Amino acid sequence: MTPAAKAHAAERAKRASSRAPRWCRHALEQTDCPVCGENPRTVYIAGGGTTFHLRKDCPSLVKGQTKVERRGGVTSPITAVGRKAASQVEFRDPCRTCVKKPLEERK
Ligand SMILES: [Zn+2]
Ligand SMILES: [Zn+2]
Repeated sequence: MTPAAKAHAAERAKRASSRAPRWCRHALEQTDCPVCGENPRTVYIAGGGTTFHLRKDCPSLVKGQTKVERRGGVTSPITAVGRKAASQVEFRDPCRTCVKKPLEERK
């Protein structure tokens, strides 16, 4: 390997490691996470759920609400959580339908 090629390889390795994904507590790439990432977004939660959603009309959020209604229960309202209240969703999982999938599809 010539010194120039060696330097080039080292530079490439350095760049690759600095771009390695860091995972946030929601098991998302930190930069992509709508809660703790670089561009925090409003997310939606239902009182009784354990997940958070990017869309208020997420099918899985709506389905959860309908299920409660069918059982004759009272649905808890869907709450929008802005970045100031991010601690509210700190221990919730990202919804597989509207949070995780869109992130994966983008790649
Ligand atoms: Zn996160
Ligand atoms: Zn969802």
